[in-house]
Amino acid sequence: LTPVPSDIAISRAQPPKDIEKVAGEIGIKQEELDLYGRKKAKVSLDILDRLSEVKNGKYVVVAGITPTPLGEGKSTTTIGLVQALGAHLHKKVFACVRQPSQGPTFGIKGGAAGGGYSQVIPMEEFNLHLTGDIHAITAANNLLAAAIDARMFHESTQATDALFNRLAPKNKKGVRPLSEIQLRRLDRLGIPRVDDAENLSEEQRVSFARLNIDPATITWNRVMDTNDRFLRKIEIGMGPNEKGHTRTTQFDITVASELMAILALTTSLADMQERIARIVIGSDKAGNPVTADDIGVTGALTVLMRDTVRPNLMQTLEGTPVFVHAGPFANIAHGQSSILADKVALKLAGPDGFVITEAGFGADIGMEKFFNIKCRYSGLQPSAVVLVATVRALKMHGGGPSVVAGAPLKHEYLDENIPLVEGGCDSNLRKQIENANKFGIPVVVCVNKFATDTDKELELVCSKAKEYGAFDAVVSEHWSQGGAGAVALANSLVNATTGHPKQFKFLYNLDLSLEDKIATIAKEIYGADGIELSDEAKQKLERYTRQGFSKLPICMAKTHLSLSSDPTKKGAPTGFTLPIRDVRASVGAGFIYPLVGEMTTMPGLNTRPCFYDITIDPVTEIIDGLF
Ligand code: ADP
Repeated sequence: LTPVPSDIAISRAQPPKDIEKVAGEIGIKQEELDLYGRKKAKVSLDILDRLSEVKNGKYVVVAGITPTPLGEGKSTTTIGLVQALGAHLHKKVFACVRQPSQGPTFGIKGGAAGGGYSQVIPMEEFNLHLTGDIHAITAANNLLAAAIDARMFHESTQATDALFNRLAPKNKKGVRPLSEIQLRRLDRLGIPRVDDAENLSEEQRVSFARLNIDPATITWNRVMDTNDRFLRKIEIGMGPNEKGHTRTTQFDITVASELMAILALTTSLADMQERIARIVIGSDKAGNPVTADDIGVTGALTVLMRDTVRPNLMQTLEGTPVFVHAGPFANIAHGQSSILADKVALKLAGPDGFVITEAGFGADIGMEKFFNIKCRYSGLQPSAVVLVATVRALKMHGGGPSVVAGAPLKHEYLDENIPLVEGGCDSNLRKQIENANKFGIPVVVCVNKFATDTDKELELVCSKAKEYGAFDAVVSEHWSQGGAGAVALANSLVNATTGHPKQFKFLYNLDLSLEDKIATIAKEIYGADGIELSDEAKQKLERYTRQGFSKLPICMAKTHLSLSSDPTKKGAPTGFTLPIRDVRASVGAGFIYPLVGEMTTMPGLNTRPCFYDITIDPVTEIIDGLF
């Protein structure tokens, strides 16, 4: 239709198939499906065993140039592309996308179901609670946070004997049996396992009962999935019963939590449990790492996370399958869809099929993490990158005025302006293509067409993209036409992934020091001259190296609005040093997490967030205002 109706109006106008039907069409058995209503389901990981002999499909990542704050259509392109491959070229194909966070859905950016005629439906279920994975993560994260503070409180208010008697109570036979989790703590302390903790020596009792957490080293924060800037720094323990045990801490947004990253990177529930056990929440006063297992919560957290491990199945507007699993925010988090969803999809797609997975924000963060963290852990070899570009964002990089969410676009963005487009191609597009080429696989540039783009502008982007090393560059109209508008893109991708030998390689070797790995990303991908570590960051890198975590890959927390750390610097900035303010270790997820510049792990709300427009008709229960 012209004009294209709102995202939610389009979504509502297309009745989804029952999810059982979608599942049946792609070879999922009924017993492998766990229905959550009629339009979404979790799928069993048993599929991986059943299809273990089947060859994987082609594995394609969708990334983008540095976006404007409005987003340049990566999700929309991911969905448009699978609609084209599935409903028009009749390939077996899956989209693997991330579950949106409540933060942006009610904040500036809206949901993440795609847009126009390329969407996941029903979009309100997709954008709201889905099957509760994010809620489960919030619950598990905060149980651990509560346990840490309670443990420190009890250790400081009780004598060692009293503490020991409570942690290892005598049973009716007068014996002190320890739970499996407590026996594992003995293992870590190098104390032989005992049937009766009564047999521990005095010294052993002290080290068993006292974790001696150094409060200044705690990096495990509380989380919630709302943009709540007032929780960026808080004082806890102010009640009279906490006896002055106050501490300054903070909330992070749930989707940026380590448990979300664990969900994205895990390979099974057993692996998830091991990763949870390994989570390091801080150090003890002697400088040793303190783990979630030391706190005693491994089993309880895994119980809360149990259902999250299975990917969620939904569908596109054109009835092709979509896995929705793990969380967004490739700027302040790992921000990738899950390895498990990709693996299940690759088996179901089979050797002639495709799995299109999305790596959020600009390729400098999303794609870099996809390759260097996700592919390293999964062992999966990607076949191609689709790099989404828009004339709008290129004009911004070429020197156009700022694009501000909620404000009308300036005339430069509505009228033809070749010099601005060219400036953006010569800077940001060029750098992002060159970056993608460093990983050794073909890059197809998708120019996501907006109604105001002119033919001359679109042609210029395509020819520049090819000049700068793209395998191909195609204009795509999936937003206004659905899958039919992305057939050219789909054909180009089929071509890029057929008969061209790949030489996929990582950017850095894990044996490099943590500092060198960070510097490699800063120089090679962002274009920095080098990095500058704050004293805090230096101390943390030293501590994590001493604690034996230096072989982990790096997950940078950096603005998505610039290749540099300064969101106002557009194009491809040079001549800057990347400031590393702080570093955290996500040992359970398996990465070191440097915080670049002023990056915050809890977004805020602007003056007029999208929640103003979100309504429900209480009679029909029809929701409006989501996009
Ligand atoms: P990203 O995944 O890159 O953040 P999205 O796919 O979520 O971006 O798109 C951001 C917003 O822009 C959505 O509301 C979507 O409907 C809209 N959009 C995407 N492509 C187009 C287009 N070609 N024309 C108009 N609006 C678009």
